[in-house]
Amino acid sequence: MQAIQLVEPEKFRTIEIPEASPPGPGEVLVRSHQCGICGTDISGYLGKMPFFEYPRIPGHELGVEVVAVGEGVTHVAVGDRCSVEPYMHCGDCYACGQGAINCCERLQVIGVMIDGGLRGEFIIRADKLHPSAKLSFEQLALVETLAIGCHAVDRGGVREGEACLVIGAGPIGLATLEFVQLRGARPVVLDLDEQRLAFCRDRLGIEHALAPNDDLVEQLKACCEGHLPDVVIDATGSEISMSKSFSLIAPKGRLVFVGLTTGEVVFRHPVFHRPEGTLLCSRNALPNDFRQIIRWIESGRIDTEPWITHRIPFAEVADQFPQIIRPAARTIKAMIQVS
Ligand SMILES: [Zn+2]
Ligand SMILES: [Zn+2]
Repeated sequence: MQAIQLVEPEKFRTIEIPEASPPGPGEVLVRSHQCGICGTDISGYLGKMPFFEYPRIPGHELGVEVVAVGEGVTHVAVGDRCSVEPYMHCGDCYACGQGAINCCERLQVIGVMIDGGLRGEFIIRADKLHPSAKLSFEQLALVETLAIGCHAVDRGGVREGEACLVIGAGPIGLATLEFVQLRGARPVVLDLDEQRLAFCRDRLGIEHALAPNDDLVEQLKACCEGHLPDVVIDATGSEISMSKSFSLIAPKGRLVFVGLTTGEVVFRHPVFHRPEGTLLCSRNALPNDFRQIIRWIESGRIDTEPWITHRIPFAEVADQFPQIIRPAARTIKAMIQVS
């Protein structure tokens, strides 16, 4: 069967790989149908992702169909449509013992450290499949992106009525905003790109979608009833933005970093000490985020319609990938139609 491999930065190749073997105990053979492209894939393509190894079959945002189940697998059956939780945890390190499986010390993310879903069929651990009888493969492939935002909002402990600033309106920022709204908090979003802000206003119904001006503190107070935001979630991955964000929280405020940088984040301590701030990081997501999001999409509380802006046939990935990642393409989420 065919697979798409990233041979080295900026070079995809279609390869022929052997058929997958039958699933062993606790394993499932799945057919890949839809695969979302996200920032991790783009960084891997550009050679800017520190954890990405080459050559690699990418693909971690997946909607799959169960083809065969191994011994002892009971929660999915042949024909089921599933979302894939792509974080393979070990189950016996200290983090896993604490239930923090998203921080597993031997974590392997499929499509990043091990081969992912841009291939016809593959074997996966049954516990990493989250089935839904209602959702389409595209919707199932969107669940992982949403889960990142869901986990970040959980980390920030965002409560009803609180003012919550999301910095960066890329896919992770947008996913975060979705859950800020679901919590009944008051969202504010900052981005430099006017078209992204327009998307937040027009498609997500967010009133306060702003480009930062010279006096950001006053600008934020003006849309948070006179105080700074209770929670600030930085989804930019920019050390400049992240460093500035320490000065943007209300007294007792929480600052969450969901974006990732390899640069240095710096802040003047009194700026964060004065409001008695709390800094949190948000890494990946937890199994329950996947299950919850599937229920919310099924019930209509999350509308996936605005999300998917581009669709790419499997055979055209090498040609179209460089196009859809250009800012001018205005991509929110591109889906590869694997089969
Ligand atoms: Zn992703
Ligand atoms: Zn572990």
